[in-house]
Amino acid sequence: MSKSYEIIDHHYDVVVIGAGGSGLRATLGSAELGLKTACISKVFPTRSHTVAAQGGIGAALGNMGEDSWKWHMYDTVKGSDWLGDQDAIEYLCSKAPEAVVELEDYGMPFSRTEDGKIYQRPFGGHLTKNGEGAPAMRACAAADRTGHALLHTLYQQSLKHKVEFFIEYFVLDLLMDTNENCSGVVVWSLEDGMIHRFLAHQTIIATGGYGRAYSSSTSAHICTGDGNAMVLRQNLPLSDMEFIQFHPTGIYGAGVLITEGARGEGGYLTNCDGERFMERYAPNAKDLASRDVVCRAMTIEIKEKRGCGENKDHVLLHLEHLDKETLHKRLPGISETAKIFAGVDLTKEPVPVLPTVHYNMGGIPTNFRTEVLNPTKENPDNICEGLMAIGEAACVSVHGANRLGTNSLIDLIVFGKAASITAKEKVKPNSAKLSVKKSSTDLILERFDNIRYNKGDLITGEIRQYMQKIMQNNCSVFRNEELISQGIEEFKKVELSMKNMSVKDKSLIFNTDLTEALELNNLIAQAKVTLHSALNRKESRGAHSREDYKDRDDENWLVHSLSWLSEDGKVSLGTKSVHMNTLTNHIESIPPKKRVY
Ligand SMILES: Cc1cc2nc3c(=O)[nH]c(=O)nc-3n(C[C@H](O)[C@H](O)[C@H](O)COP(=O)(O)OP(=O)(O)OC[C@H]3O[C@@H](n4cnc5c(N)ncnc54)[C@H](O)[C@@H]3O)c2cc1C
Repeated sequence: MSKSYEIIDHHYDVVVIGAGGSGLRATLGSAELGLKTACISKVFPTRSHTVAAQGGIGAALGNMGEDSWKWHMYDTVKGSDWLGDQDAIEYLCSKAPEAVVELEDYGMPFSRTEDGKIYQRPFGGHLTKNGEGAPAMRACAAADRTGHALLHTLYQQSLKHKVEFFIEYFVLDLLMDTNENCSGVVVWSLEDGMIHRFLAHQTIIATGGYGRAYSSSTSAHICTGDGNAMVLRQNLPLSDMEFIQFHPTGIYGAGVLITEGARGEGGYLTNCDGERFMERYAPNAKDLASRDVVCRAMTIEIKEKRGCGENKDHVLLHLEHLDKETLHKRLPGISETAKIFAGVDLTKEPVPVLPTVHYNMGGIPTNFRTEVLNPTKENPDNICEGLMAIGEAACVSVHGANRLGTNSLIDLIVFGKAASITAKEKVKPNSAKLSVKKSSTDLILERFDNIRYNKGDLITGEIRQYMQKIMQNNCSVFRNEELISQGIEEFKKVELSMKNMSVKDKSLIFNTDLTEALELNNLIAQAKVTLHSALNRKESRGAHSREDYKDRDDENWLVHSLSWLSEDGKVSLGTKSVHMNTLTNHIESIPPKKRVY
């Protein structure tokens, strides 16, 4: 039972999908450069997941100790387990200091040192002197509410530049023209149920990660990677989807995050014997080793029956030895979080914690100019014109196989701005209106109707839970062929059950039943390519840890993986070489070596 929809058209130079840190920075940048810009978001901008970021934004300002962007680059390449593209990493780390100062100029309320400079704290995997020196004080912080401060600052600046926001508008799909270039998006307005078509010379995807494919995640419920799924539906590939970051300190049972900044301020982990076990796994960096390293250590402690509590299924994070003033001043948010979600007064007792899904290193492949790649055999750097991607949705790739803490927020800002610069190069302000074939819009609405009117007896929540359980059990901190293959087999049932899913509420106004169904559909596509990519990569690198292939294998696997999903649900896989070259001659490329902390 399909119906025809009345469609409202809009014309812009640039359309940004997403109003998190990356989307807002690109929106603001494009507006500052005189481009006619619209920003579309399924939630109110300051409710985007960026608002929840706690610990800090990484930049080698050197405010509280010696630092250099070159050391930041070294740490990022090492953190990525050499899978990051070094040209993009150079761009990120060398631009980071000016990007943070720019935020300061925009009015971001950073915490301050005694002499009024931006406060910086240590974070996991960030060291001085190319990994040989002491922990670097590199994480610029606004207490433990850095993302909150950042997002509000960018939203206010965007309002100042009279950006046009379309809030509580849900983007359904990308519109492609006959040359397979992107020419905009089709959108459902959640408030009044109208369908809108945005035609734009550049479309920037900034839709965030897909943490909600797992049952225990620090990400918000809206983190369903909608943009990634839209890209898959255009027969474009996603990259490095097997690399899922677990954060060491999700609160046991709740999954809510305790920032790594807590360990940056002097917190540490213990097992049931009260032992600071990280000293065994990472003698130098200890509790401030990279996240993948700490998560594996925690998982081994629990597996070997040295976990805490009745079921020996978690470890403890200690902050009670820190002085109350520091906790109050530097970590007020997590003090509150620990009280609410763990029932713990962290000035007096430790917090029970467990590795929890936190970040997606994989996503839409782009170059450092944020243009989306559509690699072909002849040209691995081939571009899909009209389309860019930034933030957690993108895989630039600066994080490679494992992201360092604080490197996402800086990625949002540096590449958010880069997107606006690229847009300005490609589009003249107030360019001529685009037109589009009606049939491409019809196809998008047909998919929408198929989900809306599907007849069945399963509800979204049941299928979602089933999918999340498979991902949590079969594609976790440690993986092996048997486990992942089982997951892929089970997953077929999830896909089948989608055919039997029914949306009870057929209306178009604030229909959360329908939004959740669309989001689940998006999650399933990403979960599927994640499982297949994880099975395919026969080595251990960064966050991808295979029990049956314990070592990193640079000879065969120093490559990005690519995954496509066809309309009939078939996954195909490919690879793309890693850029080992730097961008300029200011720094030499960093050759692979064994990664120890
Ligand atoms: C609890 C937590 C703490 C963190 N702390 C830190 C930290 O201290 N430092 C750090 O560097 N990183 C941190 N991270 C990671 C970092 O915050 C995220 O990777 C980053 O904020 C993602 O930003 P984004 O702009 O890519 O997307 P998001 O902030 O997730 O925003 C996505 C946007 O896309 C919009 N959107 C999505 N789908 C659609 C659709 N279909 N239609 C319309 N709009 C859509 C949403 O409305 C939203 O506006 C943390 C993450 C979490 C979960």
